[in-house]
Amino acid sequence: MLQRQTIQGTLVLEAVRALRCHATADEIYTEVAKTHPNISRATVYRNLNHLAELGEIRKIETPAGPDRFDHLTDRHYHIQCTVCGRVFDVDMDYMEELERKIRDRHGFQITGHRIMFQGVCPQCGASKG
Ligand SMILES: [Zn+2]
Ligand SMILES: [Zn+2]
Repeated sequence: MLQRQTIQGTLVLEAVRALRCHATADEIYTEVAKTHPNISRATVYRNLNHLAELGEIRKIETPAGPDRFDHLTDRHYHIQCTVCGRVFDVDMDYMEELERKIRDRHGFQITGHRIMFQGVCPQCGASKG
């Protein structure tokens, strides 16, 4: 049912990888449209969701603002700046033991967990003076 890769899919995947910084669908569309102005926004959005389903990229839901897309598909945590809204990777080990505790206590088969920290990034903190 899931077809592996279309030309548009490849373009979108390349844009996500080029942007690297947890871009929004809009930012990815702008990046793709630079070289392929005829591509529609809907096509880019559809391909983003498709690539996320295939596991080629990760969709990150954020408490504030639109979803982000991550070219890193390994398990890691994020921090979002409450001023500029940018999303950064957190340099911290994935806490498997946390999942083990929940599983033991609640009998759940844990398939994963996500943490989104919130704060003010160094750039926004500095500009406040
Ligand atoms: Zn910021
Ligand atoms: Zn990330």
